[in-house]
Amino acid sequence: MNERKEQPAPAERRPAVAAGIRLPPAQEAYDRYTLHATRCWACRDIDRSCLTGTELHRAWRELAENALDRLAGEAPPHRQ
Ligand SMILES: [Zn+2]
Repeated sequence: MNERKEQPAPAERRPAVAAGIRLPPAQEAYDRYTLHATRCWACRDIDRSCLTGTELHRAWRELAENALDRLAGEAPPHRQ
């Protein structure tokens, strides 16, 4: 049996991203939101939420919507 894995699990579970690579802002915001929401007891309760979780969620939605708007503007018209 393996005595030990090569590296111990870090205290924070972060996605494996190579150092120096920046995620898109919306992805970073989503990362911050999920990191909070998976640890916060209030955010894990579907009937509750905390101010931090609400703020993080709103920031993520805004960035995601901006990104989608940009994509929609850049993409060629795809309607019939
Ligand atoms: Zn929370």
